[in-house]
Amino acid sequence: MAGICVKDLYKQFDEVVALNSVSLDIQDGEFVVLLGPSGCGKTTFLRSIAGITDPDAGSIHLGERDIVHVAPENRNIGMVFQSYALFPHMTVENNVAFGLKMRKVSRAELARRVKAALELVDLADYARRFPRQLSGGQQQRVALARAIVIEPELLLFDEPLSNLDAKLREQLREELHHLQRRLGITSVYVTHDQAEAMALADRIVVMNAGRIIETGTPVKLYRQPRYRFTAEFLGHTNVFSVETEGRRGWLAWGSEITLKQEAQGVVKVSVRPEDVKLEATAVDAHGVVETAVFMGSSITYRVMVGNLLIRAMASGNETDVIAEGQPVRVSVPRSAHVLIEEDEI
Ligand code: ADP
Ligand code: MG
Repeated sequence: MAGICVKDLYKQFDEVVALNSVSLDIQDGEFVVLLGPSGCGKTTFLRSIAGITDPDAGSIHLGERDIVHVAPENRNIGMVFQSYALFPHMTVENNVAFGLKMRKVSRAELARRVKAALELVDLADYARRFPRQLSGGQQQRVALARAIVIEPELLLFDEPLSNLDAKLREQLREELHHLQRRLGITSVYVTHDQAEAMALADRIVVMNAGRIIETGTPVKLYRQPRYRFTAEFLGHTNVFSVETEGRRGWLAWGSEITLKQEAQGVVKVSVRPEDVKLEATAVDAHGVVETAVFMGSSITYRVMVGNLLIRAMASGNETDVIAEGQPVRVSVPRSAHVLIEEDEI
């Protein structure tokens, strides 16, 4: 196993700059999730590390080794794709054995390792089947077994759960999480799904338009994002303009908040829906509940304050729902907002 060090990776396709000088250090054993919208360069980044795409500039070190000019099959990297990419005419065990055969592993060792890999993904009983005889989730587990059987220094995942339906996606996500923790293989996992990123990552790398916006643990990026893009991409949020004077700030509808740091003029803050407090009241109301939806474990609201839309979320049961049309007071507790910067990149 090894850490990986990517420096100033650049890749252009005709007019499109897919990677604009991307640098990233990943620790040995770390599970890093690249999160960003479609087209931001995630796959290009992953394929450059795997050696399937040739970057125009930059370096990639795997451990001590500079691998930019090493052929893909000599990089000792396992990869799992969205499309599974299994060989349809080969049985499950032959699919898994493929990489070992290429490496001229002895027959006895090959059999032992294939069996162990299939056991790890809970498919020992499916060794003789063909991919078409398996469900999507099972096929993806074969792909995972095929990636880990070569004992890679690094595992790469390109949206591996995107083709599965929601329930199965969640189940496989948990299995994957468990397996990676057990094996401790350094992993880079690409997704546009923020829930997947939060669930799997030691560290999330937020990307947009060929660049890294910021990186941090899921908690850090959710609670203390630096940039507006991160705040809005990771879950839901409200971005409010705040008139400030030192550490005092005023929201558009006049509610006062206390800033954690001094500021001057108009700044932007991000407030998560679950941090917006609503209070049904007949007097001094700021806004009106436009929609209230009972979601089972939470209640979500859209509140109009003048023409400003505010999203709020509360816990509680159906008897706690504030009715649509009800005037409400809207407040933001002291520690429940974070100053954000507009994305300069
Ligand atoms: P993501 O995986 O985040 O959706 P990609 O890395 O696939 O993004 O693509 C980044 C950008 O590069 C996109 O604008 C995409 O259209 C472009 N791109 C990717 N691969 C190619 C290619 N082989 N030829 C031309 N343009 C490409
Ligand atoms: Mg992609």
